[in-house]
Amino acid sequence: MDEAALESFTEAIACLLIDTRRVVVFTGAGISTESGIPDFRSPGGIWTKYNPEDFTYQKFISKPETRRLTWQRFRDIPWTKVQPNAAHFAVAEMEKLGKLDCVITQNVDGLHRLAGNSADRVIELHGTVRWVVCLNCGKRWPREEIEGWLDRGVEIPLCDSCGGLLKSATISFGQAMPVRETEEAEERSRRCDLFIVIGSSLVVYPAAYMPVYAVQSGAKLVIINRDPTPLDSQAAVVVHAGAGDVMTEVLENVKAKLGIERG
Ligand code: ZN
Repeated sequence: MDEAALESFTEAIACLLIDTRRVVVFTGAGISTESGIPDFRSPGGIWTKYNPEDFTYQKFISKPETRRLTWQRFRDIPWTKVQPNAAHFAVAEMEKLGKLDCVITQNVDGLHRLAGNSADRVIELHGTVRWVVCLNCGKRWPREEIEGWLDRGVEIPLCDSCGGLLKSATISFGQAMPVRETEEAEERSRRCDLFIVIGSSLVVYPAAYMPVYAVQSGAKLVIINRDPTPLDSQAAVVVHAGAGDVMTEVLENVKAKLGIERG
């Protein structure tokens, strides 16, 4: 995309942001590829190396061998080293400017929090790799702590309070969506005036219903994604480009309009 085209798109998005009160951002794998995290579903992604059918929630619960393999893979991606990129920082800046109701994410990488968004404004629909949870009593540990257990030779970690099974606090294949997060995401999607999709192809349900709820409720839709999505025709602005470049420009533009000096 040439500079002039990018500028006209970012100008249009910045105007929408200035004019709207309640803005929801919705993010998918495309916002995190610039942090070096491969899209799990794309070529080279995790699910081209492993069969998701072998790692369902039901198999994790019922088969010790599945648990052993799952914990062996716990550090396939060095999550503790992964850092937010320009697009995450731009979304965090929206919050600082009072221009963000919440960010709803399909990602499990925890990068919106690391970029500086506050906990009560990030809805993680598919959970997070940053925590490990006891499936029996709900006790939680930071990921780093459980990595320490694995380093000491523990193969299948169990809860030190109740002996229950531990699992990464992500939503696995075959596992129910988290009720509170899903309801809150739906409610905020229906209540917003502007819904901005960043880096999602909008094909994974029920997450992909969120922009549909927003549009049904009269919100304007913006889509920033490298590839076309099924909702492109319903969007006020569609940009097929990388999230980092677009969002950085959008925020520069918004700050200029608000009379805030470029940082
Ligand atoms: Zn427990």
